[in-house]
Amino acid sequence: MHQHAASPDPAAPADSADVIVVGAGPAGSSTAFHLAQAGLDVLVLEKCHFPREKVCGDGLTPRGVKQLVGMGIPLSPEDGWFPNRGLRIIGGGVRLELDWPDLASYPGCGMMRSRRGFDETLARAASKAGARLLEGVNVTGPVLDETTGRVAGVTARASAPEGDGALRTYRARLVVAADGGSSRLSLAMGLAKRDDRPLGVAVRTYYTSPRHDDDYLESWLELWDGDRLLPGYGWIFGAGDGTSNVGLGLLNTSAAFQHTDYRGLLRRWLAGMPAEWGYTEENRTEPIRGAALPMGFNRTPHYTRGLLLAGDAGGMVNPFNGEGIAYAMESGEIAARVIAQALAQPDRASAERVLHGYPQALRDAYGGYYTLGRKFVGAIGHPWVMKFATRHGMPRPAVMRLVLKLLANLTEPRGGDAADRLINALSRLTPAA
Ligand SMILES: Cc1cc2nc3c(=O)[nH]c(=O)nc-3n(C[C@H](O)[C@H](O)[C@H](O)COP(=O)(O)OP(=O)(O)OC[C@H]3O[C@@H](n4cnc5c(N)ncnc54)[C@H](O)[C@@H]3O)c2cc1C
Repeated sequence: MHQHAASPDPAAPADSADVIVVGAGPAGSSTAFHLAQAGLDVLVLEKCHFPREKVCGDGLTPRGVKQLVGMGIPLSPEDGWFPNRGLRIIGGGVRLELDWPDLASYPGCGMMRSRRGFDETLARAASKAGARLLEGVNVTGPVLDETTGRVAGVTARASAPEGDGALRTYRARLVVAADGGSSRLSLAMGLAKRDDRPLGVAVRTYYTSPRHDDDYLESWLELWDGDRLLPGYGWIFGAGDGTSNVGLGLLNTSAAFQHTDYRGLLRRWLAGMPAEWGYTEENRTEPIRGAALPMGFNRTPHYTRGLLLAGDAGGMVNPFNGEGIAYAMESGEIAARVIAQALAQPDRASAERVLHGYPQALRDAYGGYYTLGRKFVGAIGHPWVMKFATRHGMPRPAVMRLVLKLLANLTEPRGGDAADRLINALSRLTPAA
């Protein structure tokens, strides 16, 4: 059996490792960081070169910040981080500022950081912890063990400048798919997206704006397209660097989902904003780009035949609020802990038993809450529910403080106040499916 080494074995062949992680977004880099810290030899294959863009709102709640703190990432403004105090919600004619809840289990602030810097910082942290990161290496498919049908590695092509484009094989005992929402690797292993789970689509861009230093994340709950109320929300997040990240997202639970011109909708929404905020074409600094948000475990099982799914590959975006970075990082950490325990087992059968604990650990962490989220997403697909909720919820700050805890999944796991206990009880009573 493999012995855990404190650092990668210099004699190990460059194209094999204990674990291969495909993709160096927040899920892949966190998985690799925690695996390397556990003393395993980790190879991370990332098709892009850093720094690279990722379409995102760039907003972190205290859940995401907690993961960064746990990885020892410096979070000062000089390092490019812009802290925020809470959420401003606009809807039902009301504008409400809610500070992040005061909890022992989570820090009191969120953060903004463009994904260009964020993802590179995380990838470098994984390298520093001992993971071998290869950039510009595009994974083309799994390599299967002919007798067992298990993943034994991956094939990949390295692009210029370092690579020659030739197909190469990389081998490992386990592979983690952290290759994002489309997860070609999972698909190649027969794991398609589940149509019975929610999916969001969101678009975003950046504008130079005097509101760039807003220290609340701002959500607009009512998205009107003409006289249609759409299920989703618009956001204005100050990036602290002279620009605001502005975007909107919709859920697939409404009839409007398929037929919406998202870029046009964003432009029409912003046309109604005060001119002094500056959200006009002249101030736009990036193209309007969109991507999918795979929610509520929309790809399962999260472990099969030597392959573990982390982050968007496993559909881990929170259906209540569209947040995915924190869940990508958390699932990466959970995957790494399970893998480290599995590879320390004396034989393959017991290692396999440990690995099947990964989907269970995810269900324990998010299962009931995500089932609730799916019901929520289904409900707000009906415009009257959305109208009723904004009209009757928004004017009641105590209700909205509870709603913030529910939407951002920020409660004390044990004890806490009445809102924490109510949300935890609901999540526990709702079956994880
Ligand atoms: C418009 C929009 C706004 C959003 N806003 C927020 C927000 O404000 N806050 C938040 O928390 N979440 C937000 N999300 C969700 C968030 O972006 C994702 O949940 C998060 O990026 C998931 O991380 P990941 O590591 O799983 O996947 P990704 O970040 O997608 O990373 C996947 C990585 O894998 C690499 N890769 C893919 N295929 C291959 C291959 N074949 N070989 C090698 N490498 C490969 C990619 O290059 C990439 O680096 C938003 C999403 C969208 C679309």
